[in-house]
Amino acid sequence: MPRMNVQPIPTISDRINEIRHKTATIVNEDILPNERAIWAMRGGRASEAEIAHGRELREDIKHKVQAASLWAPHLPVEYGGSGLNFLEHAYMNEVLAYASGAASLFGVVAPNSGNQTILVKYGTEEQKKKWLMPLIEGKMESGFSMTEPDNAGSDPRSIKTTAKRDGDEWVINGHKWFTSNGKRADFFIVMCRTDDPDGPAERNGKMTQIIVPKDTPGVNIVRGVGIWGAHDSDHCEIIYDNVRVPVTNQLGSTGSGHQAAQDRLGAGRVFHCMNSIGQMWRAFDLMVERIMSRDVHGGKLETKQFMQGFIAESYIDIQAARLMTIHASEVIESGMDPRTDISAIKIFVPAAYERVVDRAIQVWGAAGVSEDLPLAGMYQGARTLRIADGPDEVHKILIAKNILTKYHRGESWDFGN
Ligand SMILES: Cc1cc2nc3c(=O)[nH]c(=O)nc-3n(C[C@H](O)[C@H](O)[C@H](O)COP(=O)(O)OP(=O)(O)OC[C@H]3O[C@@H](n4cnc5c(N)ncnc54)[C@H](O)[C@@H]3O)c2cc1C
Repeated sequence: MPRMNVQPIPTISDRINEIRHKTATIVNEDILPNERAIWAMRGGRASEAEIAHGRELREDIKHKVQAASLWAPHLPVEYGGSGLNFLEHAYMNEVLAYASGAASLFGVVAPNSGNQTILVKYGTEEQKKKWLMPLIEGKMESGFSMTEPDNAGSDPRSIKTTAKRDGDEWVINGHKWFTSNGKRADFFIVMCRTDDPDGPAERNGKMTQIIVPKDTPGVNIVRGVGIWGAHDSDHCEIIYDNVRVPVTNQLGSTGSGHQAAQDRLGAGRVFHCMNSIGQMWRAFDLMVERIMSRDVHGGKLETKQFMQGFIAESYIDIQAARLMTIHASEVIESGMDPRTDISAIKIFVPAAYERVVDRAIQVWGAAGVSEDLPLAGMYQGARTLRIADGPDEVHKILIAKNILTKYHRGESWDFGN
């Protein structure tokens, strides 16, 4: 079982090096040696005792994470998080993601973490008390309900779900799907097209995010949409049928929903890319370990040039993906406009991740697609990432638009920034 080799990086701050080191210590000493036992509840074959042991291990690791001040890196200290800045959080993610599924042991569970970030930024004091704090304390679960089956998720302006103002209430009607965590959620943040006779005219017809408790009459969970060959999942299809919630459930000002979604997704895309790099790192270590140990056709795999090519190509993919993502994080941290860089990594990194995992699967042969290794799950995750958070094509269009705008202004691109 490979360990993650995390040494100090001379060009970054002592604090980031310390965060990486502390994260790697927990990953290497507490998570990797116990990975199978920690996640015994998955797969449906574990005994009650094994499931209970897994729960104990997870609680023990969470306490260690808290003691190391690494808990909930996306949240400010006053909300129980570790209050990391953007760059610190990004660097931490590549280390924790080396262990598949470890984010939840560090207090980051999508979509709850994204909803927490939005509630911290847009929530009123009352909303924070009622929804944010129970979410942080693990007493509630949540979902983010934006995508619709009948309209293109990659063009959020096409969303048809409406919220009409009726006295002190919003009345919501619409059809959503792929609302992750839908069955477990206690509430949803629903993206709606708002129609408010008292609202500012220029903001009506635009998007507003509204908090909807799941037990509100009219919230109908139709099904968990099966994905990747499974018949069921927690990515839910939901019909909102004349759902009434108080206007105080609105997040931010009327018409601010699109901006709130960008706030959520922009940072999230960078963190997902750093996670992908941690996963690639793991896949690479597993691949090299196998190439060095497997005898095939009269020699170790490492003596075959096809296999040497795999090592070189994956090395290049990981380095390129990592440096691009760190660059995007630095642009965000410096306060410059990161949109082009975020779109670039959103395209490049999942595709590189897919290639790196694909090579590792090939090297491991049948074992590569088995449940004995984390590679098959990584492969599905990498492929899915090319669609979720905006598909590749949309990000290519955005990159070209930003670059052409600059050149049309008589400027050119500065690759140094
Ligand atoms: C596992 C998973 C979990 C998800 N969780 C959530 C969630 O919690 N909440 C939520 O709201 N959504 C969620 N989604 C939905 C996801 O955000 C959408 O699938 C995504 O935004 C794409 O929208 P769409 O599926 O409607 O595809 P469409 O918008 O129909 O696009 C289909 C394809 O058309 C092509 N395309 C699109 N635009 C262009 C263009 N301008 N030019 C050329 N080609 C184009 C692309 O290849 C694209 O993949 C999840 C999806 C998955 C797979």
